[in-house]
Amino acid sequence: MSQDPIARLTVLFARLPGVGEKTAQRLAFHVLKSPPEYASDLAEALLALRQEVRLCSVCCNLTATDPCPICADPQRDAKIICVVESVPDLLAIERTREFRGRYHVLHGALSPLDGIGPDQLKIKELLPRLVEPGGSADGRAEAAGRSIGGVEEVIVATDPTVEGEATALYLTKLVKPLGVRITRIAQGVPMGGDLEYADQVTLARALQGRREI
Ligand SMILES: [Zn+2]
Repeated sequence: MSQDPIARLTVLFARLPGVGEKTAQRLAFHVLKSPPEYASDLAEALLALRQEVRLCSVCCNLTATDPCPICADPQRDAKIICVVESVPDLLAIERTREFRGRYHVLHGALSPLDGIGPDQLKIKELLPRLVEPGGSADGRAEAAGRSIGGVEEVIVATDPTVEGEATALYLTKLVKPLGVRITRIAQGVPMGGDLEYADQVTLARALQGRREI
């Protein structure tokens, strides 16, 4: 890598998604022209990102505190878990303000051709949430249509793609025998689309129109 600091930073910026060589150079010059604190703030923020952000031990969301703020929020309904592929998908659902339950982030979708099987996803982290005694669990849980973990419904909000559908099917087979209601968000999201880019109204309707699977 070049030892010239401008060229070095340009090369690094150009590795960011959507940033071409020209933009990368413009960004590097912008940092150079900005007050010196900006460069140190930027450097610190980059390091903190890698050092402090980790996976929530409950839902696998990215967080600087464990459990994440959503899992730690007593106002959020622990009886409903919305399963998403990615953190940007979680954020998209949060923006709709339609969902007051908790999440589970898979960090991908099943794609056997790409070598992504259940073990590559955060699926084994989901099951303990359903089968291990949680806050409101008791001996009568199963009889009352709740899992031992106190969860009543799992909403599968994976993308409407081949991979997302395959993942939904796989989760159904795992979750249904546990006696937990499992639903899939409605197809307001266009097939082949990405949840992250769905507009808020479409996504809110997809959540409202979820159906049993
Ligand atoms: Zn969490």
